[in-house]
Amino acid sequence: MSTPLDRPFDLLIGGSETPGTRGERAPVKNPASNEDLAPVAVGHADDARHAMEVAQAAFEGSWWASDDGGRRAKALWKLAGLLEARLEEFARLETLNMGKTLKEARGDMGFVVRSIEYVAGLADKVEGETVPVPGARLDYTIREPFGVTVHIAPWNYPLLLAIRGVAPALAAGNAAVLKPASLTPLTAIAFGRLAKDAGIPDGILNVVAGPGGEVGEALVNDLRCKSVSFTGSGDVGRRIAELAARRTIPATLELGGKSPVVVFPDADLDRAARGIAFGIFGNAGQMCWAGSRLIVHDSIHAALVERVAKIASAMRLGPGIAPESEMGPLVSPGQLERVAEFVESARSEGGQVRTGGARASAGELAQGNFYPPTIVDDAPPSARAVREEIFGPVLVVHPFASTDDAVRLANATDFGLFAALWTKDLATAHTVARRLEAGIVCVNEAPVTFPQTPFGGFKQSGLGFEQGSEVVRSYTRRKNVVVNLSVPKPKG
Ligand code: NDP
Repeated sequence: MSTPLDRPFDLLIGGSETPGTRGERAPVKNPASNEDLAPVAVGHADDARHAMEVAQAAFEGSWWASDDGGRRAKALWKLAGLLEARLEEFARLETLNMGKTLKEARGDMGFVVRSIEYVAGLADKVEGETVPVPGARLDYTIREPFGVTVHIAPWNYPLLLAIRGVAPALAAGNAAVLKPASLTPLTAIAFGRLAKDAGIPDGILNVVAGPGGEVGEALVNDLRCKSVSFTGSGDVGRRIAELAARRTIPATLELGGKSPVVVFPDADLDRAARGIAFGIFGNAGQMCWAGSRLIVHDSIHAALVERVAKIASAMRLGPGIAPESEMGPLVSPGQLERVAEFVESARSEGGQVRTGGARASAGELAQGNFYPPTIVDDAPPSARAVREEIFGPVLVVHPFASTDDAVRLANATDFGLFAALWTKDLATAHTVARRLEAGIVCVNEAPVTFPQTPFGGFKQSGLGFEQGSEVVRSYTRRKNVVVNLSVPKPKG
C-alpha cells in the first residue's frame, strides 16, 4: 500500500491545511537512512495563538461541547473506523518517520484505534451526582469540559502518545490543539485530516507542528489553554509544570523512567528472558517504561543473562519497513550519539558489556541510526547508565541476594513509572508488587497496558495518569449547583 508522501504535511487549523503564517517548510528524515522523507510546515508562536483562537471559537460555537456525549461518541467511533480502514498506511508512515518496525507500528495503530473506541464509549457516561444537603434543597454536580486543551507529544510513539491525551479530551467535549514532536509529526497530521470525514466540527482538533520551545510554550501560555498533557523529557516536563502552575491550570505529565525487572530464582527463565528482551529492545528501547534495569537473583544471574544475550545477539537490525527487521534504528543521529555515550560511560565506570556495545555500521546500516541490543553487567550503582534514562536498547544488570535487597535496588531510582517481577510464588508476587514504587507493575509478563488500565508514574516519572475509566472525567471540571426548593408561605 502506498504512503502519501508526495504532498506537504501542513498545519491543521480550523479544518484547513496551512503552511503557517511564515510559509516555512522543512523536511523530516527517515531514521533508517537519514534521507529526507517529506516536507512539513514549521509553525511559530503566531500559528499557535491562531490555533488557540480557532479552537476556542469552535468550542463555543459548534455542537461539540453543547450536544450530548452520544453525538461525540458517534463521531469518535467513526474516526476510529477511518483510522482502522487505513491502518496499514498509517503504520507505514509511522515506521518511515520514526524508525520502528512495521510490526510495532501496526501494534501501535491498533492500540490507537482501540483507545479511541474506548473513550468514545465513555463520552456519554460523564455523569454528575446528587448530594444530600440539609433543608429543602436540591444539590447536584455537573461535569463540564475545560474548553481548549493542549497536548504536547514525543517522538517515540508519535501517534499513540498524542492520541492518548487528545482522544479523552475530545470525548469530554473539549477542543484540542496538538503539538507533535518535530522529528515525527507525519502521522499526527495525517490523523488530523481524518477529523473532517468523521464529522468532527472544524476547529475541534488542530495540529500545530513547530519547535517545542516556541510553539509548545506559546500554546501553554495562551490564556485560552485550560489544561495541558505532556509526554517527554523530565526537564521539559518540569518547565511545562511551571508554566501551568503560573496559569493555575492542570498538567498531566508522563516523563519516563528507569524501570526495574526483578527476577526471582523460581521464575520460568525462558519466558522471563523473552519478556525482558521485549521490554528493553522493543521500539529499540525508546520507551518511557522500558525495563532497563534487570535485578536478578545471584543463583540465576549467569543463566538468565546468557538467555537474554542469546536473544539480543540474534535480533536482526534493519530498516523498520523491511519485513525481516526485528529492530529498527534509533530516531535520530542525536539519539544514537546519546546511547553510544551512555554505553561508553558504563564501560569506563566498570560495567562489563556482554553483547552489543558499539554502533551497528555494516552495509546499509551505516547510513541509519542503528545501535544493537546491548547488555551491561556489573556496572556500579553510581554509574550514569544505571541512574539515568538512556532511551535506547541498553539493559543494565544487578544481582541480588534477598527479597529486601531486590526491593531496595528496584526502588533506588528517582523514577517510578513501571516495574516487573517474575516468580511462580503467589505471596512473593503480591507482596513485592505492593512494595515496588511504580505506577504500573507487571507480574510474569512483558510490559503490557490496555486503554482501560490507568497509566501514570510515581516520583520523577510524572503527575496524573492517562488511560483507564476515569480518563474522560479527568478532562472535565466539576461544578456544584444548589437549588433552594422552599416555597414561600402565602401572605395573610
Ligand atoms: P523533549 O521533552 O524535548 O520533547 C518532547 C516534546 O516536547 C516535543 O514535542 C518537543 O517539541 C516538546 N518541547 C520541547 N521543549 C518544549 C518546551 N520548552 N515547551 C513545550 N514543549 C516543548 O524530548 P526530546 O525529544 O528532546 O528527547 C530527550 C529525552 O527525553 C529522550 O532521550 C528521553 O530520555 C526523554 N523522552 C521521554 C519520552 C517519554 O515517553 N517519557 C519521550 C521522548 C523523550 P520538539 O520536538 O519540537 O522539540
